[in-house]
Amino acid sequence: MANILVTGGAGYIGSHACKALKAAGYTPVTYDNLITGWQEAVKFGPFEYGDLADRARLDQVFDQYNPVAVMHFAALSQVGEAMSEPGRYWRGNVCASLTLIEAAVAAGCLDFVFSSTCATYGEHDNVVLDENTPQQPLNAYGASKRAIEDMLRDFEAAYGLRHVIFRYFNVAGADPDAEVGECHRPETHLVPLMLDAIDGKRDALTVFGTDYDTPDGTCIRDYVHVCDLVDAHVLGLKWLQQGKGSRVFNLGTGAGFSVREVINHSSAVTNREVPYVIGPRRTGDCTRLVSGSSRAETELGWKPVRSNLQQMIADAWRWHQTGLYDR
Ligand code: UDP
Repeated sequence: MANILVTGGAGYIGSHACKALKAAGYTPVTYDNLITGWQEAVKFGPFEYGDLADRARLDQVFDQYNPVAVMHFAALSQVGEAMSEPGRYWRGNVCASLTLIEAAVAAGCLDFVFSSTCATYGEHDNVVLDENTPQQPLNAYGASKRAIEDMLRDFEAAYGLRHVIFRYFNVAGADPDAEVGECHRPETHLVPLMLDAIDGKRDALTVFGTDYDTPDGTCIRDYVHVCDLVDAHVLGLKWLQQGKGSRVFNLGTGAGFSVREVINHSSAVTNREVPYVIGPRRTGDCTRLVSGSSRAETELGWKPVRSNLQQMIADAWRWHQTGLYDR
């Protein structure tokens, strides 16, 4: 079975990707420094502890496993932190990815799947966000991801590094078997925070602003189920292996839901009240982020099947109730 090097395989999206890769007949080799990941989440292939900045360790892992491709999930991903400590993002995302990309090229591993973000687009109200939308990130998180995209293009020109870039919208939900799920430290994402508030693990959810220019005043986001998202990665890997060349794909469904709609669905799915308070806007939040592209569906053949709010919240709630990773 072909080995795939999965950076961040102990994290939320990376661990789901490992499960999908294994199901598709690959061996996912997780490379993770466990700063934000969970060793318990590495269930579907070997685990190699290591930091992306450690070139000697990376070389050793490439040499040991001879992976046919890299899936690069490992990253810092908190917008608030990126605004207050941009240096961590330029070092931890950009410099670390450069080390990884150089190691991959040196090892002759030239197929690369990269987790990027719709945060690279920045604010474009009332504009359809497709893959050709100008990238004007509002914070160091988005800027760091855009820089890595640029790096991949330069390394393709120089060394033939083929890459598929996925720009994620809002990822939510969990493995329906609840073997892995979402758990960040600290948690900043809407769905897990809300589920924690529902069962009293933390205080009421704060809704960040109700004065946006949207029908109910709260921000609108395009939520994608994590299992659908990682399925696209397996398709992206096959795309590269079939020699179809480098390509960028948005991963969103084109349906937008407001924070209030997410709260209402969560109440319905869990049959509980969502305790929440209204707070001020969070710095760096865009009014509306919705994908206006179906490229992944038309070109990759991606078919999101679980990406409706009901299913995403039901799967996240099932995972949440396992209490795994609870400390
Ligand atoms: N949000 C909120 N309260 C929270 C966390 C998030 O109102 O405690 C809102 C946030 O303003 C955004 C949406 O929920 O409109 C999704 O936020 P999240 O942090 O999950 O993802 P992001 O859109 O920042 O990638």
